[in-house]
Amino acid sequence: MGRQNLAPGGDSGSAQPTVLILGMGDTGVLTAAHLPKSCRVVCVTTKPFLVSGQELGHRLAEHASWRRDYLLPLHKLRRLADIEIIHGKATAVDSEGRSVTVLNPGGDQIRLAWDYLVIATGVGNGFWRDDDLDTADGIEQRLAAQVASVAAADTIAVVGGGPCGTSTAFNLKRRYPGKAVTLCLSDSLPLPGYADATRRHHRDQLLQQGVSLVTGSRAQLPADAELCQMAGGVLRFADGTPDIPADLIIWTTGKLRPHTAFLPRDMLDAQGFVPTDVHLNVPGYQRIFAIGDVAATDPLRCSARNWAYRILCRNIVDRIADRPPSARFDPPAARWGSILGLQPNGLSLHAATGRRWRVPRWLVTRFLYPVVVRRWIYGGTRR
Ligand SMILES: Cc1cc2nc3c(=O)[nH]c(=O)nc-3n(C[C@H](O)[C@H](O)[C@H](O)COP(=O)(O)OP(=O)(O)OC[C@H]3O[C@@H](n4cnc5c(N)ncnc54)[C@H](O)[C@@H]3O)c2cc1C
Repeated sequence: MGRQNLAPGGDSGSAQPTVLILGMGDTGVLTAAHLPKSCRVVCVTTKPFLVSGQELGHRLAEHASWRRDYLLPLHKLRRLADIEIIHGKATAVDSEGRSVTVLNPGGDQIRLAWDYLVIATGVGNGFWRDDDLDTADGIEQRLAAQVASVAAADTIAVVGGGPCGTSTAFNLKRRYPGKAVTLCLSDSLPLPGYADATRRHHRDQLLQQGVSLVTGSRAQLPADAELCQMAGGVLRFADGTPDIPADLIIWTTGKLRPHTAFLPRDMLDAQGFVPTDVHLNVPGYQRIFAIGDVAATDPLRCSARNWAYRILCRNIVDRIADRPPSARFDPPAARWGSILGLQPNGLSLHAATGRRWRVPRWLVTRFLYPVVVRRWIYGGTRR
């Protein structure tokens, strides 16, 4: 992993314009992989791997196959071969001087200069996504501990009925039919924000799989630090719903913490996210862009999906050429896509209208993941 201490100040000192990307999760990687070779691309990453936040249910239930698609050493991605990847954590941004301060694993601070900056630092929303500065061994140990705590639990309670909680409860019960799995929803149906037909379909799927549903009750939340732990305990409710003891409680309540503590306050909205215009440009900062879960692009903050990285790359190229950004991010008004992930009978996709269709498993495993996602979108991996 390359490490460099560039000249501080607004001039990156390179003949090519330097695009500095902060965060190498799903969107940072895709942006880095699709910027043209005419740019010098430098990335700062807390992790030496792409540790995708996708598919929490599979991460816990089918860990080996999740690893194949969602845990990728950054140096193995072909499209990142010529890119400088710096292991560290951004701790401050100077927008006028065009530099970023980065803490490296040795405890040193370095300053990196940029011409264009991309903020892709994501959010924390539980034990599976964080902004900790990690080593490969540390990541492996934590993943192993998470899988072991699932295996050791006879009773599991998942709290929160968004896509993450729904998929986690469903996939754990399918993988471990002998364990008692309960999903606690504050509403009468899972998946708020999805079409009613999609919500009813998933309630039926959960019940058919044998997941117990506790609906219309809000579990009392513990302190923030406990929301990020995998531990047993007793779920309590203020409305008289009986307590639920569980060997393992998985909190998927969607309490998001944007990873933006290192940014100037005036670059953030009231919730701490980074607002953008339709070109993914941060208002008032022509050379700064944001993408992914950290970016307040639209009410659903869905620029991690919907091909936003392509729009971002086009607009950076426009700015470099001294043209106004030309590509617009027009997000869909409702959520869509897969919720339970790949199942033995294929991959169900749900449209914003509630329509659903299924892609056969063979097409997903032989074509969709290895060819479309891995090779075409991510550019392939080295052995
Ligand atoms: C099909 C599908 C399924 C999904 N399933 C799930 C699911 O099960 N659970 C779920 O939660 N989401 C799920 N999602 C959402 C998805 O995981 C997120 O939308 C996506 O991961 C966001 O990517 P990102 O690049 O914005 O952030 P992230 O992937 O979180 O990447 C941000 C990276 O930046 C790093 N970082 C943070 N601060 C700094 C800093 N100061 N300096 C340097 N680096 C920093 C972080 O450590 C992290 O590595 C799913 C999405 C899809 C499309």
